[in-house]
Amino acid sequence: MTARIREFLRRRREDGPCLVVDLDVVRDNYLAFAHALPDTRVFYAVKANPAPEVLSLLAGLGSCFDAASVPEIEMVLAAGASADRISFGNTIKKERDVARAFELGVRMFAVDSLAEVEKISRAAPGARVFCRFLYDCAGAEWPLSRKFGCDAEMAVDVLEHARRLGLEPYGVSFHVGSQQRNVRSWDRALKSAGQIFRECAERGIQLQMVNLGGGFPTEYLKRVPAVENYGRSIFRALRKHFGNAIPETIIEPGRGMVGNAGIIETEVVLVSTKSREDELRWVYLDIGKFGGLAETMDEAIRYPIRTPRDGDRTTGCVLAGPTCDSADVMYEKNPYPLPVSLEIGDKLLIEGTGAYTSTYSAVAFNGFAPLKTYHI
Ligand SMILES: *Cc1c(COP(=O)(O)O)cnc(C)c1O
Repeated sequence: MTARIREFLRRRREDGPCLVVDLDVVRDNYLAFAHALPDTRVFYAVKANPAPEVLSLLAGLGSCFDAASVPEIEMVLAAGASADRISFGNTIKKERDVARAFELGVRMFAVDSLAEVEKISRAAPGARVFCRFLYDCAGAEWPLSRKFGCDAEMAVDVLEHARRLGLEPYGVSFHVGSQQRNVRSWDRALKSAGQIFRECAERGIQLQMVNLGGGFPTEYLKRVPAVENYGRSIFRALRKHFGNAIPETIIEPGRGMVGNAGIIETEVVLVSTKSREDELRWVYLDIGKFGGLAETMDEAIRYPIRTPRDGDRTTGCVLAGPTCDSADVMYEKNPYPLPVSLEIGDKLLIEGTGAYTSTYSAVAFNGFAPLKTYHI
């Protein structure tokens, strides 16, 4: 909670739940990444928070951008970054969207299959491509599925196919899983990256770039290592697997760039129990899974919650949202400790909500408006 956010909320006219993002924190995060990984270019993962204020701040600081769709590319361009600072990082693209991105000046594309390489060779002739390979994401609190990436052997075939079709096989990428608290996770991925570089070299392809992905954590309830520790660990792994021939590198932080910059203010709508015998308290807020807190799915991300009654005795509560969908329950398997004195109408502050909230909120499910956002 920053003093600027506290002051903003104090002056705000009451109108439902809202997200407030302190842009000074985003700036500090960008500078911390640039400092911890000085030889690495930062490509901010736009999906984490695509607000124009965030994009133009980062564009002004010199950041590059990882976009996943044509509208995200257009938002980045509108924020003042040129197309040569954008990579189209989604491995699943319509050919007409590749063509549109190419028309807009984008020249770097992610692939993980032969068919995607063929689309790019037709719609973005001569462009740079990097191949995403699979990684199991052990240790991540928000692990990624097998949806993206191919295995390391296939990556070599994909890059060779790119060269055959006149594209520039530029490098490889991986993602160690979001909210990755183990600084050593990059080591094993970089081992595979090194192998792909060597196998490509045997086929006469000189790769240049390793995209180290995102995964840098933000602090929720558990402590997380500082970004310098990630920088050191990554540098050590690069030396180990690439020796003196360290490739060009990029990172794509999303959560680590904006997560701790945001706070959601929400109101308690109801506190109740389910039977005379069962004392388990149910606390219903005016925001839930459909209002921006989608990452509570499977109780994966556990946000710090402040109440006006902190310090009073607490008891584990089920925490749920306001909609009439029974899936709109955030913490139940692991009840959330909240003050027994908590009352209807109390305002709660949910911390660490600057990433993956505003654009996850439904447009008007059940009549609830999308999450209001303020970037200050
Ligand atoms: C979502 C995403 C990121 C950002 O991941 P974080 O864990 O939020 O840092 C980076 N790269 C790609 C390709 C992504 O899809």
